[in-house]
Amino acid sequence: MAARTGQEYIHMITKLKPVLWFGGSKVDDPFASSTFRGLIESQAALYDIQSQPEKASFMTYLSPTSGMRVGTSFMQPKTKEDLEKRRKTTQEWGRFHAGMMGRSPDYMNTLIMALGTAAEVLSEQDPRFSSHLREYYQYCRENDLALSHTFIGPKIRVSSESERSIAARIVEENDNGLVIDGVLLMATQGGLTDEILVVSNSSASWLDLDPCTFGFAIPSDTPGLSFVCREALNYGGSTFNYPLSSRFEEMDSIVVFNRVLVPWHRVFFYGQPDVVNKLYRESQVSVHITHQVLAKNVVKTEFVLGILQLMTDTMNLGHRPDIQEKVGEVIVALETLRGLLFSSELQAATDRWGSMLPDYRPLLAARQYFPKLYPRMMEIMQWIGSSALMTIPSEETFQSPIGEDLIHFLKTNNQDGYERTKLYRLAWELCMSSFGTRQVLYERFFFGDPLRKAEELYRSYDRSDCIAWVRQFLDAQGKQG
Ligand SMILES: Cc1cc2nc3c(=O)[nH]c(=O)nc-3n(C[C@H](O)[C@H](O)[C@H](O)COP(=O)(O)OP(=O)(O)OC[C@H]3O[C@@H](n4cnc5c(N)ncnc54)[C@H](O)[C@@H]3O)c2cc1C
Repeated sequence: MAARTGQEYIHMITKLKPVLWFGGSKVDDPFASSTFRGLIESQAALYDIQSQPEKASFMTYLSPTSGMRVGTSFMQPKTKEDLEKRRKTTQEWGRFHAGMMGRSPDYMNTLIMALGTAAEVLSEQDPRFSSHLREYYQYCRENDLALSHTFIGPKIRVSSESERSIAARIVEENDNGLVIDGVLLMATQGGLTDEILVVSNSSASWLDLDPCTFGFAIPSDTPGLSFVCREALNYGGSTFNYPLSSRFEEMDSIVVFNRVLVPWHRVFFYGQPDVVNKLYRESQVSVHITHQVLAKNVVKTEFVLGILQLMTDTMNLGHRPDIQEKVGEVIVALETLRGLLFSSELQAATDRWGSMLPDYRPLLAARQYFPKLYPRMMEIMQWIGSSALMTIPSEETFQSPIGEDLIHFLKTNNQDGYERTKLYRLAWELCMSSFGTRQVLYERFFFGDPLRKAEELYRSYDRSDCIAWVRQFLDAQGKQG
């Protein structure tokens, strides 16, 4: 099968019958529910974009196995042109969702591509496992599957066998596969994708075979698997009222395994924390993913800048130095992110898997920068928006007998009250609503604990040249003195 269309995706998703708990009930048909429908339609639109004739040349490529046109976000980049194509694909999709879908399909497609091309690493434990992962990557690519993932375990700190009983763990190993029981937190879009990739690693090096360490992928409707959704952050209905959450509410869920059988051909590794650590390290998955995330975040920042400028113009604030300075701060941020993205591509080099690997250094800088930048941009939006973020009547109010009055009362020098409200409802959703607050939380944490990421940057960043230069500088001073 080639890159799929939106209709093919919707057909697949409605056929799937995952156990999805929402608000105390099981959801029989997510597509029929106003909570999930907007997201499913947006995913479908993304799939349609990749097969539009004018986009297909960069959003798809010829599969190395089937010769069909498959999604570029699955492509192993072998040249700098491939990296550029991958970036353009992410940004094309990103422009549709304005950077709000952290888990548009390209995120997981990139991840599975990086792991799949480095599958050889797994042959240490069992050569069959490397084939499983390689074949799974090809299966996802050829069928254009959407994946969610869950990596993090429950919050109980595991120090004894009894405490370990909450976390998802292997409770049986038999001829058919591994049986998994317990819980993992959390999966964005969990239960709303074809399959879920599960990678858990408790790093319990004191055990010979750690039952909490495994990697596998299974369909979202595998018997025994269920997803417990959080509260919805969309309120249903009108895109005027809720321009973002009505379409891009990704939903997060807790993933529960009730004696789930994972067939052997879907097991990628188990029991050995060293193996998973090695796979992460040697596949360079973080590098590929960070390149995708940064490409998306450039688009997200462009969107924020556009909103800020429209707010500034609508309220005729552009002459004020404090507003100019704040908008300027976002311009500098955008250019910094663009610079980091291009620099990572310019300095890319081929790795041992034959992949054109972007330079990690600018990507690491972006990974540290964006979790701080994004909340700051939302703060700037509040500063510029002020009370106008509160005078945003709903679409229903504009359709009521006082609607005409409101169009008049809320007008500015260059916009009528309706158009002004449309813009400010967008700004409100982004910087003030529960949907917007989740976006801030997402950008802070989805990549992992920022503190540990800062430690990693400190440990790994090569600054030996800088140190050597300063030493030379000091030595030269000593000689002169
Ligand atoms: C919106 C959203 C979507 C997500 N989607 C997914 C998903 O789809 N799949 C998935 O697997 N995960 C997902 N995550 C989880 C994400 O990977 C984690 O949030 C991240 O790894 C941080 O882990 P944690 O939330 O358990 O925080 P913790 O590790 O519990 O940290 C909480 C706080 O304590 C601090 N802290 C922790 N340890 C220390 C220490 N030793 N010293 C000092 N301070 C410390 C941290 O800095 C942080 O501020 C998502 C998270 C969010 C917010």
